[in-house]
Amino acid sequence: MKGRYAYILKERVGLAELSAIGVGGEIELFIEPGNLDEVRKIFCLRMDAGFPLYIIGGGTNVVFSDGKLEGVALSARRLCETRWDKEFLIAGAGVSMSLIVSEAAKRCLTGAEFAYGIPGSLGGALSGNAGALGRGAVDIIEEMTTIERDGSVRKWHRGEFSGSYRSLSLSMSDRLIVECKIKFQNAQREDIERETEVFRKARAGQPKGFRSAGCTFKNPPGDSAGRLLDVCGCKGLRVGGAVVSDVHANFIINSGAATGKDIVQLVGLCRDIVFQKTGIRLENEIKLLGF
Ligand SMILES: Cc1cc2nc3c(=O)[nH]c(=O)nc-3n(C[C@H](O)[C@H](O)[C@H](O)COP(=O)(O)OP(=O)(O)OC[C@H]3O[C@@H](n4cnc5c(N)ncnc54)[C@H](O)[C@@H]3O)c2cc1C
Repeated sequence: MKGRYAYILKERVGLAELSAIGVGGEIELFIEPGNLDEVRKIFCLRMDAGFPLYIIGGGTNVVFSDGKLEGVALSARRLCETRWDKEFLIAGAGVSMSLIVSEAAKRCLTGAEFAYGIPGSLGGALSGNAGALGRGAVDIIEEMTTIERDGSVRKWHRGEFSGSYRSLSLSMSDRLIVECKIKFQNAQREDIERETEVFRKARAGQPKGFRSAGCTFKNPPGDSAGRLLDVCGCKGLRVGGAVVSDVHANFIINSGAATGKDIVQLVGLCRDIVFQKTGIRLENEIKLLGF
């Protein structure tokens, strides 16, 4: 929509198009606000009308249910402005992590190498503290601006929030990240390249060229979910069109015509097998929306 509105609004949008794994039914309303004021208005409207709200960034960590979903899917993708202030980057929640990694490297700034190859947006990465090898998105955030449940704007400073393995200390159920201030440090180009290579190598064992939602389960303390799934014989397991990757057992792949139900059943099957064989109950890393 052009003119005085920056947002895009669509009725009855296929959820498969909004998620990397490509499954899901249809959402009543889809909205992509273009600025903070529009996000605030949506949140205020929701306070009055009480409709379900599903927040999405790049859709690379979510699995939607099948059928018709009531409510609104709000995409943060168009909140994608960036500006540099010395070694700080102020970026909208919809900015892709890959852009942040490459822009920082171009400026000889270090800090974001851990995110090399992680798909999705800054907001999605921060809400789940996405990362690798013990590093996470929260590590580099100096400030974060959110829209609260009642539509108010809140600025959070470093120290008011923290990250742990795949989690942010603030609940994200009724809160939208709109912008972050990221702090980098100056570095030599060769050091940044060397650091990036460490993370590139760490991803070498992930399946490529398939539709997935990333790692299915979080690693349990002191172990790897992929290793446990592998030794328990889960590689290649299939429910409908959902298959456990035979490259990396912690990835479920949409082999073509998977449904949300297929994915959820396969997740449950894998969790049960691992629990029966090892006594370890795996926790989901993927986010199931609308189930
Ligand atoms: C091939 C592949 C490889 C991956 N590798 C990794 C990896 O190495 N490490 C890793 O941690 N993850 C990995 N992932 C998972 C995923 O890419 C990350 O979790 C990513 O950070 C999610 O970002 P997104 O924008 O796609 O979030 P989405 O999938 O859109 O959303 C994820 C969650 O964040 C919430 N959310 C999104 N945006 C906002 C916002 N602005 N404000 C509040 N909440 C929000 C959503 O409601 C949802 O609960 C991988 C995924 C794939 C497909």
